[in-house]
Amino acid sequence: MALGTDTTVGVVGAGAMGAGIAQLAATRGHRVVLSDAIPGALERAKAGIAAALERQVEKQKLTAGESTAAQARIEYVAGIGEAQWARFASCGLVIEAIIEDLALKKAVLGAVERVVAPDAVLGTNTSSLSVAAIAGACRQPERVVGIHFFNPAPVMPLVEIVGAITTDPAVTAQARAFVDGWAKTTVLAADTPGFIVNRIARPFYGEALRIAEEKIADCATIDWAMRDIGGFRMGPFELMDFIGNDVNYAVTRSVFEGMYYDPRYRPAIAQRRLVEAGWLGRKTGRGYYDYRDGAAAPEPVRDPALGKRIVDRIVALLVNEAVDALYLKVADAADLDLAMTRGVNYPKGLLAWGDEIGVRAVLQRVAALQDEYGDDRYRPSPLLRRLAKEARRILG
Ligand code: NAD
Repeated sequence: MALGTDTTVGVVGAGAMGAGIAQLAATRGHRVVLSDAIPGALERAKAGIAAALERQVEKQKLTAGESTAAQARIEYVAGIGEAQWARFASCGLVIEAIIEDLALKKAVLGAVERVVAPDAVLGTNTSSLSVAAIAGACRQPERVVGIHFFNPAPVMPLVEIVGAITTDPAVTAQARAFVDGWAKTTVLAADTPGFIVNRIARPFYGEALRIAEEKIADCATIDWAMRDIGGFRMGPFELMDFIGNDVNYAVTRSVFEGMYYDPRYRPAIAQRRLVEAGWLGRKTGRGYYDYRDGAAAPEPVRDPALGKRIVDRIVALLVNEAVDALYLKVADAADLDLAMTRGVNYPKGLLAWGDEIGVRAVLQRVAALQDEYGDDRYRPSPLLRRLAKEARRILG
């Protein structure tokens, strides 16, 4: 059963991501089966999808008829018993988007596998678990592939397609072509911690936190520098407050642990304290900034020389991460740059940015930090060293 326009798409888990994926598939004309262990989650998903589609009608991106038809294509299934799984039998693709729990994800895909056709594709939307581990409970692990959407799934253009060592490359290619058909930008990522975006973006947060911890500059000044000088849409601290410090800290921890405690990914104590205090960001009214009524926004120190130092330091470490990901074949060069511009709105792809700065200048900045701190956190990628050597040979 090749994936196509008439494929019925199953989605397990109707939270933020599952509801978004179901909405996307339904607006693209697919019949959708959306299930959740908790009936209340399905009701929330149904109301959320109706409201999101209503907004698209208001913006004239959909007609009222198209919105109604899309909603009618979604079948809601409450519960996780045998009878509920049987409702997925006609699905050519089932994507699990349940909570980030390996044992539960394995159980879900194992149960789904028993009812779908032998050539149906099984996808996981995991952000931090290994696709190979999730596939472990399946009789045909070769048909399990990572299909990692970004939040909100109907809006964010990027989708990381993750082929594990267990995945049949034909399944990976099929999943990619299918999601491409939903007008998404897909990139191919290796089954390594954080895939592309959540791995390469770490210094954007981590180094900003480090600079603030050392009191080289405060949050408002770092955010100002990254926005106004660096060209990023949001500064690191406003972005962490927007994402939620609990979520951002959990991603950092999971990449750090997944990388066997490589100091390059070490989380910040300052962020941990915020999480412990319940200062999760906008959603709790307090994070790095105070969002409560009447609170004054802190003024940045608009010092161009300091701003440039901040941007140079963070961008050099981001480029080093991208080069290292290329070195370790997490993805190819084009996909690495596409992932950062399409997934997290970076002003430029990091490899292209590195070329613009010059690999020798990037290496100099990273190596100077390693020298100053004596910390492996600032270890330059072997490929960055190699490229800089090459540039020296050619350019003198
Ligand atoms: P969520 O908590 O909003 O939703 C998870 C849903 O799964 C809940 O409604 C819950 O009732 C349901 N559920 C739990 N166990 C279940 C089971 N055994 N069977 C059926 N349903 C079950 O979580 P989310 O933010 O939508 O994240 C879902 C997945 O997507 C996670 O793996 C997460 O890592 C990943 N992800 C999240 C984001 C994000 O920004 N939120 C982005 C990309 C990927």
